[in-house]
Amino acid sequence: MGERPVEAVAQKLGMIYEGKAKQVYATSDPDLVIFYFKDDATAFNAKKRGTIEKKGIVNNRMSEAFFLLLEGAGVRTHFVRRLSEREMLCRRLEIIPLETVVRNLVAGSLAKRLGRSEGEPFKQPVVEFYFKSDPLDDPMVLPAHAIAFGWASAEEVARLESLALKVNAVLRDFLDARGVTLVDFKLEFGRYHGEILLGDEICPDTCRLWDKATGEKLDKDRFRRDLGGVEEGYREALARVLS
Ligand code: UDP
Repeated sequence: MGERPVEAVAQKLGMIYEGKAKQVYATSDPDLVIFYFKDDATAFNAKKRGTIEKKGIVNNRMSEAFFLLLEGAGVRTHFVRRLSEREMLCRRLEIIPLETVVRNLVAGSLAKRLGRSEGEPFKQPVVEFYFKSDPLDDPMVLPAHAIAFGWASAEEVARLESLALKVNAVLRDFLDARGVTLVDFKLEFGRYHGEILLGDEICPDTCRLWDKATGEKLDKDRFRRDLGGVEEGYREALARVLS
């Protein structure tokens, strides 16, 4: 609505940010950035490092598929279009410094923290917030902390929670129909001209995806836990999403 067809004119400029798994480039349009997806993988707050061959290609392609699916379901995202195997054109967000995690089954840090077994179901999905801080190892925080420290307003925190649950419902049903259980995932949101948009990426780095029939892990836990078949797991996850 009233948006310019900006992507036709955006030229790639210098790198403005380099993260663990991607680089972000400015463009000639101040409202747009280009993501470049790398094969570098880290885990446990970068204490474990490695490379997952073609991961960047998988993550870019899967994120595109999920962002298009979510836009179709009425969730606004930063996605504009995929430019190449490893590049995506995105709206430039003012990132809210919270990681929003949604869980459908117990796994990972929650299993450890509360002494539960992986795969245990809940009565309802759980939404958690983590403060984005490398030196602090992204600590879990309450919505009240986010509001009290001014990371987000009360309205924004409520919006993040409802958007996260909507994303969960859409992705969970989509993956379920393709024989994949969406165990949990992490989202990032940002502000864009007065709106909250879904940002970052949605891929096997940021989701736990289990084969419904076999329970096989098709995500970054294969790398985190040295399970082998990491590239194959990523490739299979993408094949399911594109099927
Ligand atoms: N996650 C992520 N980035 C992080 C931490 C977690 O993408 O920095 C994702 C992770 O892949 C999983 C979900 O968020 O799908 C929940 O992760 P959890 O809290 O269990 O932490 P983990 O066991 O991955 O350290």
